[in-house]
Amino acid sequence: MKVYFLGTGTSQGIPVIGSTHPVCLSKDPKDKRLRVSVWIHWDNGSFVIDCGPDFRQQMLTSGCPRIDGILFTHEHADHTAGLDDIRPFNFFQQQKIPLFAHRRVIENLQKRFDYIFEEENRYPGAPSVSVIEIKNDERFAIGDKTCIPIEAWHGKLPILGFRIDDFAYLTDVKTIFEEEADKLKGLKVLVINALREEPHESHFTLQEAIDFIHLVKPERTYLTHISHILGFHEEVEKKLPPNVFLAYDNLELTL
Ligand SMILES: [Zn+2]
Repeated sequence: MKVYFLGTGTSQGIPVIGSTHPVCLSKDPKDKRLRVSVWIHWDNGSFVIDCGPDFRQQMLTSGCPRIDGILFTHEHADHTAGLDDIRPFNFFQQQKIPLFAHRRVIENLQKRFDYIFEEENRYPGAPSVSVIEIKNDERFAIGDKTCIPIEAWHGKLPILGFRIDDFAYLTDVKTIFEEEADKLKGLKVLVINALREEPHESHFTLQEAIDFIHLVKPERTYLTHISHILGFHEEVEKKLPPNVFLAYDNLELTL
């Protein structure tokens, strides 16, 4: 299985429009971060987690040839705003793209992208999707693999992370209950969010992410959903504990 980081930045992306912060002006490609998303693929499966506003660019850069489904962590715009751009996959694959999401997230998408879910008098060429409702306590199949949802809290909003084999992806986490964290035992690779060093009401700080890593004890961890305020990629990496790394756009892991 391969995990390709399509985007690793916080909601505004890095560089932030109009910002003169040194990290936003950095020439290091690792300091350029699109909105968070990963592409997980293996011999006969190709799934994307979240579909933010940079989706089109991410698909072009990664060369992702087909999508067997999109898993949603939650409904915020930086995780969903690119949904219209699945249209080329509809055309090439000649089938509906399955969306895996919690009922609340589906209802939110149906409101914001009403034309996608319209059954009568559909706009010609509108994206075509099927909906698969997922619940935090029920495993579900993605192709020939099993996905275990993990519930966490993004401030006051319940969100989902996902475990597939020995890999787990969680973003936008601020708190997580013990019984959900128990689902993360024995991981080879964990991806978890770390926004910045200063406290934030709905995101882990770097230290909170590191404390969580000590609890879960994966073999390796990659941090994502990063703000420019965290600092330069190269300098932040030097401060991290062993086997903890900053993810960066276009990094691909093999599991
Ligand atoms: Zn986010």
